[in-house]
Amino acid sequence: VRVYVPRDAAALVVGADAVAGALQRECAARGLAVQIVRNGSRGLLWLETLVEVETPEGRVAYGPVTADAVPGLLDAGMLQGGGHALCHGLTEAIAYLARQERLTFARVGVIDPLNLADYAAHGGWQGLERAARMEPAAIVQEVLDSGLRGRGGAAFPAGIKWKTVAAAAGPQKYIACNADEGDSGTFADRLLMEGDPYTLIEGMAIAGLAVGATQGLVYVRSEYPHAIATLREAIARAEAAGWLGRDVAGSGRAFHMEVRKGAGSYVCGEETAMLESIEGRRGIVRAKPPLPAIAGLWGRPTVINNVITLATVPLILARGAAFYQGFGMGRSRGTLPFQLAGNIARGGLVEKAFGLSLRELVEDFGGGTATGRAVKAVQVGGPLGSYVAPADWDAPLDYEGYAAKGNVVGHGGIVVHDDKADMARLARYAMEFCAIESCGKCTPCRIGSTRGVEVIDRIVRAGADPAAHAAHAGQVALLESLCDTMQHGSMCAMGGMTPYPVRSALNHYPQDFGIESTTAA
Ligand code: SF4
Repeated sequence: VRVYVPRDAAALVVGADAVAGALQRECAARGLAVQIVRNGSRGLLWLETLVEVETPEGRVAYGPVTADAVPGLLDAGMLQGGGHALCHGLTEAIAYLARQERLTFARVGVIDPLNLADYAAHGGWQGLERAARMEPAAIVQEVLDSGLRGRGGAAFPAGIKWKTVAAAAGPQKYIACNADEGDSGTFADRLLMEGDPYTLIEGMAIAGLAVGATQGLVYVRSEYPHAIATLREAIARAEAAGWLGRDVAGSGRAFHMEVRKGAGSYVCGEETAMLESIEGRRGIVRAKPPLPAIAGLWGRPTVINNVITLATVPLILARGAAFYQGFGMGRSRGTLPFQLAGNIARGGLVEKAFGLSLRELVEDFGGGTATGRAVKAVQVGGPLGSYVAPADWDAPLDYEGYAAKGNVVGHGGIVVHDDKADMARLARYAMEFCAIESCGKCTPCRIGSTRGVEVIDRIVRAGADPAAHAAHAGQVALLESLCDTMQHGSMCAMGGMTPYPVRSALNHYPQDFGIESTTAA
């Protein structure tokens, strides 16, 4: 009997190794033949450790399983898919999973991440095999036609970036994958690198063939040791099998890959600071122009894309641009892996086409708060994203619609807070985070963030004192002015977007700042 126990960090942290060990021991003691496969995580994180048993009808899910529960599960006939309080029936029929549109994450949690045969058996390498037979310009056109936009947060069309690098002259070009994933509440990149690393490798090799780059680097944050180890092993195996190296997939063209480990700086997720870090210097933002597409790594033309962007490319080449275009709405084509985190009952990964609402994600998928209290605030797009106004929780989620309301989709991270949240404290945290993580290159961010903490402290103190009404109004106006300066005067998104959570907290939850409404202030 084949049993799947995830090797993903999210499962390991709740005892997946102990569960696998207990299963092995108990089955040996009972004389039961069992083959344990260490797969990636399905992304149903509240059910980890999620153990799946292969049956003729499909895989049956049990979770959350602890090592102590293993004897009882075996007594209940788990190896035959038998019923138990922890049994959820067929994995694919669990509503959270069944309602998703898994394109980029189709194999994550399904396959053994490092098994090349398993990858190929589930549609792997088809995109690269096709790309190897295509003209470079045709590969770029396919990505352009798909409408794929950068999934790291900026949402810039991937095909346009590739076209610029393809047209740039130079003896050496690079593909740099941004796997810094520093946004609070995000884990899609990690889940993919640990659960299906060949998809990223395949996407990077296709990008290399498309733009004429022969070297790819994946910049992974040091907080992801499992992803780093998995990727390094996968690169070695892919190279040995001829999917990387001097002759990629029989194309006659070369593409090599390596992993670079970051050192834990949030700003190194900014593309030019990442380049500095890869080149061995402190991660400080570079002035643009020149664009990295013209002069990136070591001054050479460089494609910089996020993990999810590159990992979506194999599917586009395998199934065609029109297939991917068929998902989504407006100019937001395809799917986005949303990540539900914070105070939420069913945290995890939800890959869906653009156009669903925040309420669907938080309530239908997420099941509301973990505490069972009312949802008060939802931050979308990481620590620099806005708290979306409750009136907009039913609006379709896409890049343009969100931008029109001053919100951002970002990397798809969604952090939920219940009605005990103090939004003034969270606004203060945003400024404090900026002060700690600022690279220090420009004044609005370096100094403004520290002044922002002080101003919010004064607003909260004055708000609690009826005699300080005039001072309070003045400090609120000062915070607004400071936010303007940071937003328009900062060199990069760190300082430029810190006002998003601050302003949205102030505008949508004025009572937490001691005011009834910002207009009254
Ligand atoms: Fe550095 Fe902040 Fe300026 Fe960005 S906004 S360049 S992080 S100081």
